[in-house]
Amino acid sequence: MTNNQRTAIVTGAARGIGAAVAKRLAADGLAVAVLDLDEAACTATVEAITAAGGQALAVGADVSDEASVSAAVERVTAELGSPTVLINNAGITRDNLLFKMPVEDWDAVMAVHLRGAFLMSRAVQGFMREAGFGRIVNLSSTSALGNRGQVNYAAAKAGMQGFTKTLAFELGKFGVTANAIAPGFIETEMTAATAERVGADFDDFKAMAAAQIPVNRVGQPDDIAHTASFLASEGAGFVSGQVIYVAGGPKD
Ligand code: NAD
Repeated sequence: MTNNQRTAIVTGAARGIGAAVAKRLAADGLAVAVLDLDEAACTATVEAITAAGGQALAVGADVSDEASVSAAVERVTAELGSPTVLINNAGITRDNLLFKMPVEDWDAVMAVHLRGAFLMSRAVQGFMREAGFGRIVNLSSTSALGNRGQVNYAAAKAGMQGFTKTLAFELGKFGVTANAIAPGFIETEMTAATAERVGADFDDFKAMAAAQIPVNRVGQPDDIAHTASFLASEGAGFVSGQVIYVAGGPKD
């Protein structure tokens, strides 16, 4: 590690949006902890980063578990350096209409998105304060505006926005910014699983989604990685507490 190289943690980085963000931050010159539930599942992302000349570490951890989070952050600090960039990306869906939703599915979604982002942010904020620099990027969603069949997920993703704005208020004086990215439809295993659940062919499902999107296509993980790269950059220090909808058109 060079002395001035920054270290980032990207949660849920074994695949999908998190993997794209991890690769992009590594290409930007950061050492990247690729964190996901199963350490072995992180190997592909780590290998892609190292093959491209970057530095990465696979870390198995459950973001919703306090002991797991502190062990993971300790390991990252020892093996990669003090983390000053955090991308809270890990996520799950447990979709159902309100009247059919088991309480376990409400709790599971809250635990990964909200408890996870809280535990991870609390665990790294000390390093950011110490460095006088920090970048926290939280994954929200257009579902934060309300989405049929996602009462748990919509509440969690709206919660991520309030969480983000509060971090911006509390941590700004330490040189730490906090922003949220709210993606629209992004082509990943998460949206493929949604298509399967509603019995749709994924290509038809994507075409239907694209028809509703002003730029006339669905999003790709790299669309989110590009935005995360900007928000994590040194030059973005005057952008804080914002929610950027990356959805191929306006949302409000
Ligand atoms: P994905 O399902 O492909 O990947 C999510 C990753 O998070 C998986 O690798 C999974 O193992 C990991 N994860 C789940 N629970 C975890 C936990 N407790 N601890 C650590 N890791 C955990 O999903 P994706 O589409 O890449 O989504 C990434 C983020 O973007 C999520 O927060 C999601 O809600 C959000 N998002 C996605 C879309 C979309 O259209 N795909 C849209 C808006 C927001």
